[in-house]
Order: sequence, then structure tokens, then C-alpha cells
Amino acid sequence: MKITLAVAMMLAMSMLGICIFKTYKEKNKYELAQIVRRTLITGFAIVFVNFISLLMINKTIALINYSIYFICADWMLYFLFRFSIIYMGEDFKKYVNKKIMYLVLTADCISILLNIPFGHLFSIKESTLFEDEIYFHIDTTNLFYTHYAIILMLAVFTLITLYYKAFNSPAFYRSKYLLIAIVLTVLVGMNFFMTESEIDFSVVGYVIEGVCIYYCSLVYTPQRLISKTIMDISQGMSVGLYVLDKDGEELFCNDAAEQLIKRINPPKTEDDVTLAEWCHSEYLNNTNEFTREMTFYRGEEELILKIQLQRITDGKNQLQGGYFTITNSTEDYKKLKKERYLATHDALTGIYNKERFYEKCREYFVANPTVEFYIICTDIKEFKMINDFFGTKFGDTVLTNFAYTLRNRLKLPDILVYGRLGNDIFGVLILKQHFNEQKFVTEAQNAFYYSGKGHNTFQMINYVGVYEVTNHNLPVSVMCDRARMAIASIKGDYHKRIAYYDNALRDNIMLEQELISDLGAAIAQEQFKMYLQPQMSSDGKLLGAEALVRWMHPIKGQIMPGSFIPVFEKNGLISDVDMFIWETACKQLRKWKDEGKTDLYISVNISPRDFYFLNIYQVFTDLVNKYQIDPKVIKLEITETAVVMDFNRQLELISRLRQTGFIVEMDDFGSGYSSLNMLKDIHVDVLKIDMAFLKKAEDEDRSKKILQMIISLSKQLGMPVITEGVETAEQVKFLSEMGCDMFQGYYFAKPMPVDSFERLYERNRSR
Ligand code: C2E
Ligand code: CA
Ligand code: CA
Repeated sequence: MKITLAVAMMLAMSMLGICIFKTYKEKNKYELAQIVRRTLITGFAIVFVNFISLLMINKTIALINYSIYFICADWMLYFLFRFSIIYMGEDFKKYVNKKIMYLVLTADCISILLNIPFGHLFSIKESTLFEDEIYFHIDTTNLFYTHYAIILMLAVFTLITLYYKAFNSPAFYRSKYLLIAIVLTVLVGMNFFMTESEIDFSVVGYVIEGVCIYYCSLVYTPQRLISKTIMDISQGMSVGLYVLDKDGEELFCNDAAEQLIKRINPPKTEDDVTLAEWCHSEYLNNTNEFTREMTFYRGEEELILKIQLQRITDGKNQLQGGYFTITNSTEDYKKLKKERYLATHDALTGIYNKERFYEKCREYFVANPTVEFYIICTDIKEFKMINDFFGTKFGDTVLTNFAYTLRNRLKLPDILVYGRLGNDIFGVLILKQHFNEQKFVTEAQNAFYYSGKGHNTFQMINYVGVYEVTNHNLPVSVMCDRARMAIASIKGDYHKRIAYYDNALRDNIMLEQELISDLGAAIAQEQFKMYLQPQMSSDGKLLGAEALVRWMHPIKGQIMPGSFIPVFEKNGLISDVDMFIWETACKQLRKWKDEGKTDLYISVNISPRDFYFLNIYQVFTDLVNKYQIDPKVIKLEITETAVVMDFNRQLELISRLRQTGFIVEMDDFGSGYSSLNMLKDIHVDVLKIDMAFLKKAEDEDRSKKILQMIISLSKQLGMPVITEGVETAEQVKFLSEMGCDMFQGYYFAKPMPVDSFERLYERNRSR
């Protein structure tokens, strides 16, 4: 029997030993681990002294052992009490006065130790229980109950704490407290009922209680608590969680996953496989873990799901199950798509923006280095003016309509890529062989007709510039620049709608750049000269002259106005040249006035652009004041173009100039598009008929009829007519017969320097 007990105690000691050892490993709950350890150590001591008692067959040693046993019991219960409070998460000092506790316990311990010599608490008796083995047990006096009382008090405090907590905790936590409490209750009961028994079984109780508190407080977390907590957490997650066991049977499915998997109309793949079916088949057929982005469809609706499969294995690497996490990233995807779209598309027209257009073209060039392409740019004439006149909303419609034309009317296979490069500039990439100039220009022009108002009251032109891709490696932006240079070369030209970039154009552009950069010096150094071309009456009298500019370039020699005037008109620099010529003319008229040649006049040209940049009325009145000349000796040649550009304003300006005494001539009459109709509103002094009428026309008769009509009409309106470009005697004859009053042309004289003109004048007057 003794042997059995000894073995049991050794077992108990090793169990406690292991627990004590393990408390040292507990890093997180330091305070709790410490108090558990103390409780266990005192428990261990209790078992140990009992064990010694078993082996020692000496009465005195038994007495000492029992004393230690009772002392240890005191402290163990004290530690247990402290444990219960700390275990509740409370501060022990808040509830118990430690000093009083120590005092009581120390007093009891001293009393127990004094019992060894005095025997006032208990004495040792030899048991008669076992026949052949000696065993000692104790015989207690009434005083011994003070010790019991202390222990009982501690045990009751502990129990109250534990039961209180157990019944005030969520159900899942209850077991943690209840187990310790029940074991302690049994232990107390055993002590209470077995005080008289010869064998003290309470040792067993201490061991169980010790292991219990270690297990409950430091090791055990209720399984149900874990699953419930995890479930609650996963229910709240926006990520779908779909857990399967090793055979692919569903174990758990959170709300988010249920939304996707179990609803009435579940999302399906393109092949009509539902999400749940897809997950199962992937789970069973796929041994790997994966993350995939899949597109599912719920009717028309597109769902982008990010699906991840994870597998769970046990300690031996055996498959235990697996789970899918399903994230609905449709919104993110849409957002991303939108962002990407906005980064690559023009917000107004929805077609590619500049960057994307360049990028796409580059892709074509890289993939097809030997194929012949055209890069085409289009540019709407005076788009800013369209915006100003009709409002930006109309301007937007014009642009949107052109984008529409590109997308729907010119589309593939003709057009490979198209985009809006900025403002009113569009870019197109096209295979050279597919380019149909006629069709492209017509469509580009027709785009305006869909825009409603404006297209017929305002001459809208969509210029087309073409660059043939000769070097596929050139940056696309440079190619576009070249196409636009081609456009620049025809801007202001009413007849041309399309231009190709070629070497001649490039040289031309270079030349233009040179002219522009030379202009400043030219004016400063007076490189511009006024030439005069005589204007004659039908009977050969010299009436006056038209001032025509010549550029005496120090390097390039004499440059004719046809080469530089259009260049300067494009950028407005023409005004500088004109102002110079006007002033020169006035200076000359003043000189003639002083010389008594008051019967001469000079006609000066006013470029349409001058009306933009100058206050024409102011400039000319200032000039006649400055040189003190009669306004009627300076004739102002304005063109139809200038008039139609801003009809009402010009009308007013012309009448003001005429009222002041200036003579206004309508230059190049018949070369534009308004002509006869315009005469009814515009009152000018002289009509200057364009020399085109005198060119050898295919139908000369017809030309002459029109000429005749214009001349008689202007006569009827009281306007003298001057015809320019007269080159032959025959022309003079029939024009005279038609009623033309004045002539200008090579037949009489070419434009000449002022001194030559003056000599001519002298000769003419002395006829
Ligand atoms: P325009 O105003 O029509 O001037 C008449 C042009 O016809 C002049 O050319 C003149 O030399 C040319 N011409 C005169 N008679 C004949 C002829 O019998 N046969 C032919 N084939 N041509 C003849 P030019 O001097 O080369 O000037 C060309 C254009 O440059 C002018 O056309 C005018 O629009 C512009 N221009 C000339 N000087 C000035 C100027 O000072 N200011 C402005 N804004 N433009 C000017
Ligand atoms: Ca002229
Ligand atoms: Ca003219």
C-alpha cells in the first residue's frame, strides 16, 4: 500500500514539477504565471513532505513533516487566493491588506512550529490501518482549529471570487473559473469531512487543484470560445470566407461568401459554372494554393472576384481542409479602369488623348518598321473665333462631332489610331495605301454640318496636314509637328484644305523662320523700300501710284512681297512693314506737296491682319496730321477678306475714313467670294478689279461679260473702276470701251523706285 502511495506521489510531484517548469516559459502573462508558480511550488512542497512521511518511520521526523505540511498548506491557500484575484484581472492590493494577511499567516506558522516542542496543536500517532507497515497520522487538539479556520477562510475567499467571476462571465469563459472553483470546493469538503480519518487524502486535492489552475489559467482556452470568436470576426469581414473539409464538404461560410455563393442568382463564369461549383472543382482538382482574379457574370453585370485558395494541413502534413477567401474587387477594378481611361482619353470627346495617341502610333511603328504610314493632323481655322462667336458649348459640339466623324465615318481599316492632340488639333495614323485624300478632306469638312448653327454663317475650315512617315524612329510628336507645319503653310489660303509635309515645305519653313528673325534688323536698317507702280487714265495721263514694298536684303538680294508678306501676315508682323510703308508714302506726298506736285496720290495696301493689330482710323488721321497732307491723296486699299472677316465693324470704319476725306479702294475685287452682293452694303470710292479677270481664261467671253457687268454696275453706283494687271494695248482698248477709267499694269509701267517714278511724272506732265 505504502509503495502504491509513494509511486502516486512521485507521479504527482513530477506533474507539478513539469507545470512549475512550464510557468517559466510563459512570457505574456508574467504576473499570473508567477503566482501560479508560487502556488504550485507550495503544492509541490506539500506532496514532497507527505512523500517523506511515507518513507520515514520515525515519529519525530513525521512530526516535523506534518508541521511543514500545514505551513505549506497555509501559504498555498494564500497564494491560491491571490491567484484568484489576479486571475480575475484585479489588483490584489486593492482588496486585501497584505500586511494583516502576512501577520496572521506568520502567527499560524510560528504556532505550528512551536507545536514541535509543545504539542499544543497535534501529536503523532501510529496508524493501525496497515497491518505490516508503520504509518503515522495526527491526533489534533481543539487549538488546531485555528489553523483550519485560517485555511478555510482563505479557501472561502478564493471560492467566492471564483464563483462570482464564473457567474458573471460570458458562458464560454465560465468553464475556466468553474473548474478551479469546483476542485477547490471538493478539496475543502475533503478537509472538512476527513479531519478525523487516519489517511489524509487532501494531498490529492492539492495536486489536482494545482494542475487545474495551471491548466485553466495558462494553457486552456475554451474551444467553443475560439470557434465562436473566429466565426464572429469572420462574419463581420467584407472578405468572403468559404471553408471546406478535406473532402470538399462545406464547413463554414461567412456572410460575405454567402452573398456570393448562395444567393438565388449566383454569379457564373462564362461557361455557366457557378461560383460555388467553380470553388469545389478547383479545390478538388488543384493541389496548389493560388490567387486568381476571375470575371464572373450575374446576368449582364460583371463581377471581378479575387479568389485565393489556402490549404490547411495538420502537424504531419496531412490535408485537413482548405478555405477560399473571395474579395469582390469590382468597384476597385472599375475605379482603376476609369482612372486608366481618364489618363489615356480626352475628357470631352472620349477619344485618345495626346500621350495615348503617341504611344499607340509608336506601337504600330515598332511592329511594322517597313510599312508606309501617314501621320495626319487636322486643325480648325480660327477655332478661337468660333468659340468667341458661338460660345464654347458650340465649340465643344464642333469638336465632339469631329471625333464622331473619326470614330464612325472614317474608322478602320482606313484609320488605325486617332486622338485629340489638344484644343482643335486632332491626330490620325493611317496606312499610306488606305489614304483617300478626297474622302478625308470631305469628311473632315462635313463634320461641321452636324454641329447645327454656325456652319453656314461662318466659313469653317478644317485644315488637313499630312506627314509621310519616312523615319519610323522619329518621335511621334515630331511627326505631328511636321503635319502641322504643312497646315501652317496653307493657313489663310481659302482654296487649299490639305498640305503635305515635304522637303520643299521644310525649306520653306526654314526660310520663313529666317525672314522672321531678319525682320527687326530690316526695319532698323531701312532695308524695306517703297516702289511705286503708276496708275494711268485711259488717255495716258499719270494719275498716281500704288505703293508696293520691296525688301532689299543684304544677303538674299531683292525679295518680292509675295515671299514675305504671307509669312508676316501669319504672325501679325505685317503691321510693322505696313506702318513703315504708310509713313514713307505720307512723307513722299508731303515732299511732293512742297514741290507743288499736288495732283499725285499714292495708294497703300492695308493687310486684313492690320485691322486686328492697329487702330487704322487713328493711324491714318495721325499720319495726315503729322505730314499735313490732304487725306484724299492717300488712298487706302482694303481687300474683301478684311471686310468679310468682321463686316459690321469694317462698314463703320470705312464710312468714318471716307467722312474724314480718305479715299477707300476695294482691292482685288472679284478674287474672293462675296463680291457683287457686298457692293449693296459697302460704299467705297474706287473698285479695283482683280487682275485674274485679264488672265487668259478658258472661257474668255464669259470673263469679259462678267467684267463688263462689274464695270457698268460700279458706274451706276457712281464708283470709278481701276483695273490692275493690264499688260497689252488690246486690254486697254476693250476695258476703255467697257467704261474703265483707270489702269495699272506692266503695259504702262512696272513698279519702280521713287526717283524713277518722279522722272516718269516729269515726262508725263511735259507731254
Ligand atoms: P496687289 O495689291 O494686288 O498689287 C499688285 C501686284 O500686281 C503687285 O505685285 C504688282 O507688281 C503686280 N502687277 C502689277 N501690274 C502687273 C501686270 O501687268 N502683270 C502682273 N503679272 N503683275 C502685275 P507685287 O508688288 O509683287 O505685290 C504683290 C502683293 O503683295 C500685292 O498685291 C499686295 O497684296 C502685297 N503687297 C505689296 N506691297 C505691300 C505692302 O506694302 N503692304 C501690304 N500689306 N501688302 C503689300
Ligand atoms: Ca493692292
Ligand atoms: Ca490688287
